[in-house]
Amino acid sequence: MVRILEIAQLGDPVIRERASEVTDVHDLQLQTFIDDLLATVAKEQGMGIAAPQVSVGKRIIILSPKPNARYPYAPTMEPTVMINPELIWASSNTEKDWEGCLTVPGIRGLVPRHVGIRIRYHTRDDLLVESEYNGFLARVFQHEVDHLDGTVFLDRVETTHDLVTEHEWQKIIAQRPLT
Ligand code: ZN
Repeated sequence: MVRILEIAQLGDPVIRERASEVTDVHDLQLQTFIDDLLATVAKEQGMGIAAPQVSVGKRIIILSPKPNARYPYAPTMEPTVMINPELIWASSNTEKDWEGCLTVPGIRGLVPRHVGIRIRYHTRDDLLVESEYNGFLARVFQHEVDHLDGTVFLDRVETTHDLVTEHEWQKIIAQRPLT
């Protein structure tokens, strides 16, 4: 029976701590936790989630983009569990786009991110995988990995004027052409 985990919000110290490496991927408790984290990100309709967001200080993230009302332009990808994820290369060019976060409810920000990245992670079966991502997926990965180092998207905006409320963001996004 999977459990839906409680989302830690900004102000909870766990959000600002560095998460530790996973040493035993096959650990049964860890595997159960991954099932719970998958169920939690699905229920919350997150584009991704990081373990510290449910108060677990381990280097585990899930990318789970699919289009919804908040992100109609998101690509669809099977939820992908990444253990000890690393950024091994990043393009020098960056672009700004909107981000939000389950841990920072009610706020959206324009965040600059590397457009292209190469990454490495372990699967939940302990296979080492290298991948390249561009655009939206690259953005979600960078956002989630930041959580493992105690960083949230608010730390990445160029100016606080790039922060808006969810209510105002809805108006902005309604005018945006679908790409
Ligand atoms: Zn987040």
